[in-house]
Amino acid sequence: MNPFSYTRADTVHDAIAALMSDPEAKLLAGGTNLVDLMKYDVVHPSAIVDISHLPLNEIEDLPDAGLRIGALVSNSAVAYDPRVRRNYPLLSSAILAGASPQLRNVATTGGNLLQRTRCYYFYDPSAPCNKREPGTGCSAIGGVNRIHAILGASDKCIAVHPSDMSVALAALAAIVEVEGPLGRRDIPFGEFHRLAGDRPDEDNTLRRGEIVTAIRLDSNHVAGHSSYLKLRDRLSYAFALVSVAAAMELAGDGRIVDLRLALGGVAHKPWRDTLAEAEFAGASADEATFQAIADRLLAGAEGQGGNDFKIPLARRAIVRALRQAASGGPEDGIVKAVQ
Ligand code: SF4
Repeated sequence: MNPFSYTRADTVHDAIAALMSDPEAKLLAGGTNLVDLMKYDVVHPSAIVDISHLPLNEIEDLPDAGLRIGALVSNSAVAYDPRVRRNYPLLSSAILAGASPQLRNVATTGGNLLQRTRCYYFYDPSAPCNKREPGTGCSAIGGVNRIHAILGASDKCIAVHPSDMSVALAALAAIVEVEGPLGRRDIPFGEFHRLAGDRPDEDNTLRRGEIVTAIRLDSNHVAGHSSYLKLRDRLSYAFALVSVAAAMELAGDGRIVDLRLALGGVAHKPWRDTLAEAEFAGASADEATFQAIADRLLAGAEGQGGNDFKIPLARRAIVRALRQAASGGPEDGIVKAVQ
């Protein structure tokens, strides 16, 4: 591990100033990903700026019945908050499907969004990797790519985003509040993470010096019909091969009024296609519609060899999650392992 300086930020302004004064500085909150990245010799920050004591650890009610979740609220605190469980059960289920209780107790809301891919080659400094070292190539293309992307991949990187929480936040159309040297701004969740394109080293659309301060959730009418389904190699403590956050508002006659569908484990960012969702407004919430939604969402899916199985797996997972959501959803935290 390389030497680095350590400072503790007392205000958001301090943290922004520290990032602006040193482009190699990294923020430390829960540290559940950053410390691993340092131990694996993947990142070499010259300075660690500890933001864990900033006053960003409250979940506040908003006037319109929404919630504002501070960036330092732990994943456990979000998942078990009674308001989240009642009004955003999709978010609670997604968080509880990820990591382990110990990790969820220290991992933060902001950190969850900013965690790096779990591509094996990214964590191996001896392997070419455009995300870790731009211009060196992608070892996963033509290599071992069982866990990699089937949607939106580029010829520079086929990594996937590892977060469960972010998949639910994408479906719930959350807003990411950030603060930086030019002030505050809101980023719609779908615009926060990036596809790899020509710059796989850039995971998100944060500008230099900006930090995530909160996540905002509007009130919604889908809480009664939502489901998070996660498929993975082990029954617990594993990243998703495919996950589906499904939610819908249903009319009295069983027709879909509002459809929300996001996929995890399949792309460089949580995958949501709002145009496809809109095409199914007014359709009956039945098996034929769910199959048609899955076909529409996966029309552009492409395997890389080792992950070809993800396409039929995702198709079945979408149909199953939609079926569960329409029927009122499963209990929190229920997940299925791939056999
Ligand atoms: Fe690196 Fe992305 Fe290729 Fe993995 S998929 S080796 S992260 S460039």
